[in-house]
Amino acid sequence: MGYQLSEKVRGLKPYTPVAGRCAVRLDANESFVALPPDLRRKIYQAAKKADFRRYPDHKAAKCCKAFAAYYGIQPGCLTAGSGSDELISLILNGFFSRGEKIALAEPDFSMYEFYARGAELEMVRYQKRADYRIDPVELAALVRQENCRGLIFSNPCNPTSQGLRKMAVRNLVRSLPETLIILDEAYMDFWNQTLLTEVEDYDNLIILRTCSKAISSAALRLGFAAAAKKLTKALGALKSPYNVNSLTQEAGTVILKRQDVLREALTDILAGRGFLAGALAKLEQDWAGSPWAFHLLPESRTNFVAICFPAKETQDRMFQYLKSKSVLVRNLPGILRVTVGAPEENQLFLEAFKSAQASGLS
Ligand SMILES: *Cc1c(COP(=O)(O)O)cnc(C)c1O
Repeated sequence: MGYQLSEKVRGLKPYTPVAGRCAVRLDANESFVALPPDLRRKIYQAAKKADFRRYPDHKAAKCCKAFAAYYGIQPGCLTAGSGSDELISLILNGFFSRGEKIALAEPDFSMYEFYARGAELEMVRYQKRADYRIDPVELAALVRQENCRGLIFSNPCNPTSQGLRKMAVRNLVRSLPETLIILDEAYMDFWNQTLLTEVEDYDNLIILRTCSKAISSAALRLGFAAAAKKLTKALGALKSPYNVNSLTQEAGTVILKRQDVLREALTDILAGRGFLAGALAKLEQDWAGSPWAFHLLPESRTNFVAICFPAKETQDRMFQYLKSKSVLVRNLPGILRVTVGAPEENQLFLEAFKSAQASGLS
């Protein structure tokens, strides 16, 4: 018979981003802001000094320090990871045992389910309300009722763009003292409701952040987990020793020290979001009652907007139509997700989106 794959891995399909030839790529929530040439030169200089014979600093101390300084927190509460994806995997595999229950708030970031499955956890699904908001009291009740050992969710949320205010999250964390709360703040640079500065007040909270979105560095694969001492110590013991490579550490340090660049990038992205959301809100009104009628989820707290079509066929058609116009967005269940791009990209997206109306659909 030969070697048999275990059941766990047999049905898995590799993650395949919709790559290809699209001129405008608004599908992965990356930053459209390129790092300026002088900063890039600094990165190259730092890379030149790297000693390739040696393993990287296992604590990634320099880049943790730079991250901590940027966000006004203590470096001692940080664990660096090779993207926050690695940290999600690490936490779900390390802090939980097979068969234990973890709560997910749906819809949410698809990788939670992916890693929870890999860790063979039992998933308890909280369904968000029709407007895609979380009712924190209902969520806490479910977690308690089901005796969940953990709860993971993104805030602000990918793919809904919606956010839960700081006070509500705080209450949630406090009301579930025996549950490990994994709070994924991948998009919190775009909103002001972070719990980062108080993370050490809780012994059941891990906050995840990433350099892939607002920090314009998805290529680096750099993320951070912030938590109180006991959890940080456990994370340090669980992670593979040299998980963040030296080049990423050097580059991350240089980038995170440039508050000026990061703040300007943020301003540009938020301006783009305002433009995109404004234009789509107007179109939502103009198209009401037409075959292409859609709903823009209001108040995006992220670097993307979420568009809902009443019928899946319409959404699929819009997705394909945009693609035929060389504009790639993300087609998710119930949500067409559009990343804020450069001004000219947003313009091209809007023109393509609008021209769908004229292309005929009935
Ligand atoms: C993009 C994203 C991440 C970031 O993952 P990295 O591995 O750091 O690139 C994490 N969580 C959510 C919700 C995201 O959308």
